[in-house]
Amino acid sequence: MRLLVTGGAGFIGSHYVRTLLAGRLEGGEDARLTVLDKLSYAGNAQNLPMGHPRLEFVHGDVCDLGLLLDLLPGHDGVLHFAAETHVDRSLRHAAEFVRTNVGGTQALMEAALQVGVGRVVHVSTDEVYGSIEEGSWDEERTLLPNSPYAASKAASDLIARSYWSTYGLDLCITRCSNNYGPRQHPEKLIPRFVTNVLEGVALPLYGDGRNVRDWLHVEDHCRALHLVLTRGRAGEIYNIGGGSEQTNLAVTEALLDLLDADRSLIQHVADRKGHDWRYSVDDTKIREELGYRPSVPFERGLAETVQWYRDNPEWWKPAKHDGHAAMPPEQTSQEEV
Ligand code: NAD
Repeated sequence: MRLLVTGGAGFIGSHYVRTLLAGRLEGGEDARLTVLDKLSYAGNAQNLPMGHPRLEFVHGDVCDLGLLLDLLPGHDGVLHFAAETHVDRSLRHAAEFVRTNVGGTQALMEAALQVGVGRVVHVSTDEVYGSIEEGSWDEERTLLPNSPYAASKAASDLIARSYWSTYGLDLCITRCSNNYGPRQHPEKLIPRFVTNVLEGVALPLYGDGRNVRDWLHVEDHCRALHLVLTRGRAGEIYNIGGGSEQTNLAVTEALLDLLDADRSLIQHVADRKGHDWRYSVDDTKIREELGYRPSVPFERGLAETVQWYRDNPEWWKPAKHDGHAAMPPEQTSQEEV
């Protein structure tokens, strides 16, 4: 099996690559991988086991159709992670989100169709559904995205799906909840707050902190993606949840406890306009069809994640202070993508 992984130098894509190359995903033990990544501020080549005999790294843009047409022949499948992913950034740079997330997805689907690769997994987000007060979204729910990020992902889902419904491209779409784990860029809630505590800086929490998110460990997400790649049904959408809904305040307090830090570090800041209240996916379909179950309990996953950031300041300090993540509190997001 030979797979193209777009955005494979980012948080989730690189976790997938490392897990697959380590032989920990069933049926992928001998897989060869090509990672295509632009190495934007969010990508980090150090996330990848460069030099691994079954890994080829290509520095390039997923919007480049010519490059994709050169690259794809000989591949049996694609995992499409490449995207602009930070909600707050999308409020100020929406055009870049549309270019990469919509244009890049269209270029990739076009190339996959022309070359005739096998299965394409388009990695999307539960944010395409909008916000939900009660209950959970199943895959049939109307898309009502609120931020430019979520809207660009919703558009990319529809573009991708059109290549299945019009041309029969072998495509699956996944929509997961908030991921967490090691190597997540420090612009996102958990790493931002952990690293703030480690640096003795206040934690800017939007509003009263009662917004609810479902947390999914990146390891469980990657296992689910591999199930969809190998056993999902073409043309289907699969929600992927973590089974761990928490308020942002509860997550923040848990982090402070793990770091033995005082609650006085919490600094409530004005809520963001259009801040989604609650996300909640119903992932019965992937559980029943493909036997998916999240296996990392939130408490353990969070403790291990905190420890990883404690142990790896040389990884997060440059990313945190490169001018991208170092935004004033009112512009920083507690949103995961
Ligand atoms: P990330 O920001 O950590 O990584 C994105 C990667 O894409 C980076 O390596 C970046 O360099 C690369 N990239 C950006 N633009 C590119 C381009 N034009 N061409 C090639 N590469 C490009 O993101 P992530 O958290 O790993 O998310 C991966 C995917 O999962 C995204 O599609 C995202 O929408 C989706 N997702 C993430 C979450 C989450 O909680 N992190 C939740 C739901 C869905």
